[in-house]
Amino acid sequence: MSKNVVMVGAGVANVNAATKLIDEGFKGKITIIDMGKNPYDRKYSEVMEGFLGAGGWSDGKLTYHTSIGGQLSKYCGEEKAMELFDQVIANFKRFHPKPEEVQCSNPIAEPEFIKPYFGLRLFPVWHVGTDYLHEIGKNWYDFLVDGGVEFIWETKVTDIDFENQIVHFEDGYEPLVEGLKYDKLIFGVGKSGIDFGKQLAEQYDLPTEPKPVQIGVRFEAPQKHFQKLIDVSYDFKLYRKYEDKGVSLRSFCTNNNAAYVAVEETYGDHSYNGHAKKDEVFRNNMTNFGILMEVQGIDKPFEWSRDVVKKLQIDGTGLYYSPTRKPSTTSEGEKVSAIQVDTLHKIAKSMQPYFMYVYDFIEDMKKIFPTLKDDWGIYVPEVKYLSAEPLVNYEDLSLTKYPNVHFVGDALSARGITVSGAQGTYVAEYILKN
Ligand SMILES: Cc1cc2nc3c(=O)[nH]c(=O)nc-3n(C[C@H](O)[C@H](O)[C@H](O)COP(=O)(O)OP(=O)(O)OC[C@H]3O[C@@H](n4cnc5c(N)ncnc54)[C@H](O)[C@@H]3O)c2cc1C
Repeated sequence: MSKNVVMVGAGVANVNAATKLIDEGFKGKITIIDMGKNPYDRKYSEVMEGFLGAGGWSDGKLTYHTSIGGQLSKYCGEEKAMELFDQVIANFKRFHPKPEEVQCSNPIAEPEFIKPYFGLRLFPVWHVGTDYLHEIGKNWYDFLVDGGVEFIWETKVTDIDFENQIVHFEDGYEPLVEGLKYDKLIFGVGKSGIDFGKQLAEQYDLPTEPKPVQIGVRFEAPQKHFQKLIDVSYDFKLYRKYEDKGVSLRSFCTNNNAAYVAVEETYGDHSYNGHAKKDEVFRNNMTNFGILMEVQGIDKPFEWSRDVVKKLQIDGTGLYYSPTRKPSTTSEGEKVSAIQVDTLHKIAKSMQPYFMYVYDFIEDMKKIFPTLKDDWGIYVPEVKYLSAEPLVNYEDLSLTKYPNVHFVGDALSARGITVSGAQGTYVAEYILKN
């Protein structure tokens, strides 16, 4: 059994991995390094970094289907994937102050009125509730500390020597100027560490799997227009495909009731996402969701997406367009950072030739939700940077070139909490077995 497991990133993936190791009585040492803060000191404004990572301040929606949230069944098969999901959901309930409030929405039939314009992907979602994530984080953290996990906070890992198995820190983390040795490394740096993963992939010339572009807008409108669909599926996923063009679109991460648009900052540029609060005091009766395009076959998809995002900035922030509305406020009552533009010209030009697919999507939503008309707005862009996925051994997610280094979560191929946590658990199970 490996004696010394080092995890880079205290996000959803590694927290689940460490939990599995502790639960199964792992006898070695576990060290988790994160550039963010522990859950007691982490502020609400620190959206991406700290205990539980981006999942810690997310919308707390745990998707429960293998075709949603990134790759898992491709590595371990359908049945095992569902079993791993169950373990992640059980963990969220276990550290939840009110586990009985964790509810599963499970829509069953595709409603007639959305046809023939859209398909609707139906899948169950467990709702943890954004407002409880902080408490869950604290309970979970205490459990891991009591279990003997050592955390190193507010420390950025800047390099990893895969040959000599040493982790290096920014400006020489005082107690470990020589770096930290590992037997096994689990790399779970999430979206905030995407550049770092890319750096390592280039440095070590890691083989990769090709990826599509994922880009679009965050759509926002009063909830009443969408209520008949929300009644069927809370986090509805409308989709359509243009097979011959290599383009597919889907609505992504729908938030309702107390729904707020969130600004994400990556590479110094702004893009958008959304989250929902559970507490009734935050109710604003709005709905927001991404309209995301997946485009296959673009050469250097990562660079292409970054370039488009850059073109969609004015004065250091993203854009907002609406035929009738103004940008909304955050749950703290502050303006969502965006420059309002009067026409779609700049947006269409920057996303050339793909924005027409988003435009058609909105036009067709107006047909199936007749009250919507011009009562909507879009925050631009929403982007999922799918950096090249390192090629891993499917049985343990280890690098084909360095089998004692495992990639998990958004740093590998996940895009959501359940899949990230399940990938972490999967690796932990492998470590325990071997
Ligand atoms: C606003 C928002 C809302 C979301 N809502 C949902 C949702 O409702 N449902 C859902 O399924 N998914 C949601 N997601 C996505 C989900 O949060 C992620 O898929 C998930 O957290 C990924 O887990 P991870 O462990 O791979 O990475 P993360 O949870 O992002 O954790 C990565 C950790 O690594 C640390 N790190 C990065 N680089 C370094 C470094 N060099 N040195 C040290 N530490 C480093 C970071 O500080 C971070 O704590 C949301 C994301 C955002 C941003």
